[in-house]
Amino acid sequence: MDRLELKALGKINLGLDVLGRRENGYHDVRMVMQTVYLYDRIIIKKKKTPGIELETNLYYLPVNENNLAYQAAKMLMDEFHIEEGVSIQLEKHIPVAAGMAGGSSNAAAVLFGINRMFSLGLTQKELMERGVKLGADVPYCIMRGTVLAEGIGEILTPLSPMPKCYVLIAKPTVSVSTKMVYEKLDSHEIENHPDIDGILEGLEKQDLKKIAHSMGNVLERVTVDAYPVIDKIKETMIKEGALNAMMSGSGPTVFGLFEEKSAAKKAAAKIREEKLTRQVYVTNIHNARRK
Ligand code: ATP
Repeated sequence: MDRLELKALGKINLGLDVLGRRENGYHDVRMVMQTVYLYDRIIIKKKKTPGIELETNLYYLPVNENNLAYQAAKMLMDEFHIEEGVSIQLEKHIPVAAGMAGGSSNAAAVLFGINRMFSLGLTQKELMERGVKLGADVPYCIMRGTVLAEGIGEILTPLSPMPKCYVLIAKPTVSVSTKMVYEKLDSHEIENHPDIDGILEGLEKQDLKKIAHSMGNVLERVTVDAYPVIDKIKETMIKEGALNAMMSGSGPTVFGLFEEKSAAKKAAAKIREEKLTRQVYVTNIHNARRK
């Protein structure tokens, strides 16, 4: 196997709660994660000369050790003393620094790909143990689907799959620092915790409306205070028929859940028309786990 083409899928959070802060700065979370069919394309090729070569369509992304895809390849190639080299082509579509785990998903895909390409024989669990060293969301991106993530995000419990629906994703042009969001969150008591159990109950009953109405993200208030455009996008999605709309992760990406694709498309057009952002995608949920 000299060439492998992979899809690195993005995620949304149906729920995100923060339970506490650890000494080392990490936070204990309780999140419901959902994979969506918005993906980066990754092509890995073997090359005769040693080393890792990375290229990407986004000029502002690093192509060295600072790229998570690079780090993932290096981690396995060092551990297994792989003499040959690899070239990695990374075609980004998942919004960057947006709360959709784009970098983590790239790392997960590369771990999966290198393991397969060089027949390393690592199990999914062994890939996850390595992945968490690259980022808290990497183990989830290896697993995919509808999952409850606890601990720092690495303790995963697979859940009943999310019922079929359409997802409208809108990424405002503001840049959000995840560090800043968590620092602000830490500066005061959390008064309203989202109803994570309500989401779990909705999934159990396969009740899309119950899931949508239980959605909540404790980081949303912090980010919306800094960027009111997030609220405007949410309002537009709901006015246009979304069952509910919410910010994903630490933002600024907003997603809305729709029963009808036509309504999602109409809402997308409205968001562009009102010049809230141009980075808008209509997609659907992706429930298949990685084999
Ligand atoms: P999360 O949802 O896990 O918080 P995110 O959407 O906030 O992730 P990413 O898109 O993963 O953030 O990227 C955040 C930063 O990481 C970027 O500013 C970028 O410079 C760096 N980075 C490193 N490797 C990658 C990669 N493969 N894709 C995107 N960003 C990367």
